[in-house]
Parts: sequence; C-alpha cells; structure tokens
Amino acid sequence: MLPDHRRVLRTPPATIDSLPELGGQVTAMYPEKPIYDITGFRQVNGRDLVAGLVDQVSHFSPAYALGQCARQLERRDDGILEIRPVPAVTPR
Ligand SMILES: Cc1cc2nc3c(=O)[nH]c(=O)nc-3n(C[C@H](O)[C@H](O)[C@H](O)COP(=O)(O)OP(=O)(O)OC[C@H]3O[C@@H](n4cnc5c(N)ncnc54)[C@H](O)[C@@H]3O)c2cc1C
Repeated sequence: MLPDHRRVLRTPPATIDSLPELGGQVTAMYPEKPIYDITGFRQVNGRDLVAGLVDQVSHFSPAYALGQCARQLERRDDGILEIRPVPAVTPR
C-alpha cells in the first residue's frame, strides 16, 4: 500500500489543509456571519456556504487530507508535482 500522501495525490482532486475542518477562514473565523457577496445568494452564512460547496464537489469524489500541513513540493522525473504533507501542529 502506498503511503498516505501518495494515495491522496492519485485520487484527484485532492485538498490538503492544516485545519481539522474544511472551509478555510470562513469555517475557522466566521461560520455564523451573514455573507452578502456570493453569486446566487442574497445572503448566506459561512457554515451553509461551505456545506454547499462541499456538497457540490462531492460529485467528483475529492480526497481530503485535513490536519495535514503541506511542507514539501517536488517535481518528479515524470513531471508530476508531489506534495508531502505532515501532521499539522495545532496550538494548545
Ligand atoms: C472576519 C472575516 C470576514 C470576511 N468576510 C468576507 C465576506 O463577507 N465576503 C468575502 O468575499 N470575503 C470575506 N472574507 C475574506 C474571505 O474569507 C477570504 O477571502 C477567503 O477565505 C480566501 O479563501 P482562500 O481559500 O483563498 O483562503 P483561506 O480561506 O485562508 O484558506 C486557506 C487554507 O489553506 C490552509 N493552508 C495554508 N497553508 C497551508 C499548508 N502549507 N498546508 C496545508 N494547509 C495550508 C489554511 O489552513 C486555510 O484553511 C472575510 C474574512 C474574514 C477574516
């Protein structure tokens, strides 16, 4: 079996995030804030926006590596860029 980072890259598209949840700043900093500048919505809060986006891309069966920090990016001989994530260090 391949190491985790290689299995992730062989299942495109893949998302690597050092946070434990999807959504970046929206989830981490303002999940309840009303957002008014998203096309197709008069108003949507951050949590619902992220849930909708995750549902939308689920069609493509994306791979998620959460709590993983991308530290190294190397171009292999075959031209493929290889990312090697390591477990993210979370502040106490
Ligand atoms: C309080 C607040 C309110 C806002 N309100 C609005 C608004 O109303 N409308 C609007 O359009 N915008 C708003 N913004 C701005 C908006 O949130 C950002 O523009 C948007 O989140 C940028 O998206 P992004 O995916 O580029 O980056 P981010 O949301 O920052 O996501 C980047 C992700 O990459 C991860 N990451 C970074 N480096 C690594 C690494 N080496 N390895 C693994 N993971 C990594 C981070 O953990 C993060 O989860 C607001 C921002 C804040 C803080």
